[in-house]
Amino acid sequence: MSRPVPNLGNPQSTIAVLKKYQFVFQKKFGQNFLIDPHVLDKIIRASEITEEDFVIEIGPGIGTMTQFLAAKAHKVTAVEIDKELIPVLEDTLHGYDNVTVLNEDVLKVDIRSLVEEQNEGRPVKVVANLPYYITTPIIMGLFESRVPLESATVMVQKEVADRMRSGPGSKDYGALSLAVQYYARPELIANVPPNCFMPRPRVGSAVVRLTRHEKPPVQAVDEGFLFQVIRASFNQRRKTLANGLSHAPEINIPKEIIEDTLEEMGLFRNVRGETLTLEQFARLGNLLWKKREVLPELT
Ligand code: SAM
Repeated sequence: MSRPVPNLGNPQSTIAVLKKYQFVFQKKFGQNFLIDPHVLDKIIRASEITEEDFVIEIGPGIGTMTQFLAAKAHKVTAVEIDKELIPVLEDTLHGYDNVTVLNEDVLKVDIRSLVEEQNEGRPVKVVANLPYYITTPIIMGLFESRVPLESATVMVQKEVADRMRSGPGSKDYGALSLAVQYYARPELIANVPPNCFMPRPRVGSAVVRLTRHEKPPVQAVDEGFLFQVIRASFNQRRKTLANGLSHAPEINIPKEIIEDTLEEMGLFRNVRGETLTLEQFARLGNLLWKKREVLPELT
């Protein structure tokens, strides 16, 4: 099967398409289109697409990256919210018989069912230059809804890439770092300056590859509770961990018991959340979960 050679991915071709369709950028959709062939090449290489792969692209824009993905993959489904881009995509993706474009809000698409239908439940690779206003819900949605995901190679704000990759003690460390690292191994692929996009975003960007762990690196008795503990621990950064947790109604454990538990773990009673590793959070979550079950006896 011969597919067209991609002809997008530089400023001239993007301008030509935008002009042809008199396209008006929608700020509310986070539209910053990639116009740098080197960055495209890095994303495609890092995503390790083979001709066996089913790929989901979130936000194809005018179809620049979609062309490169379609040239390599078995099948591509691209989810684009902006209906003005649909005729553009029909044009730029003409001849790529392995691409389906869905005109939907990705946050409302049942990606898990989509993968089951399209790929018989086999793992999918996600590749995207993400709309920055919804990066976290998209990434967490993919992980938490148990989409069979092999990897996600995504362009995000530089600051978000730093948060995903950081560890205890860093100013960037927080709930997002722990959630991402619970599900995946994050890797920085490239830093990308604003001039690689049209229009230029006000912030720096970075490509990260998240390779999903076959099984999480720590064991949580109750995953949902672990994430409640993590979120509550970082809710008020200036507070001690015990203060943050004891003020969270969803945790519902008295401060004294939380402090005793920290001590039991060999930590100071006034320790701060940003110093704990994922392993320590998992242990804390598991201990608190057990204590919560016998709370009336403890208080
Ligand atoms: N992939 C293109 C590129 O690299 O040139 C465009 C990337 S642009 C940063 C983000 C794209 O996501 C835009 O096309 C935008 O319309 C689309 N988008 C924004 N919100 C979306 C949503 N909720 N669901 C699906 N697509 C969305």
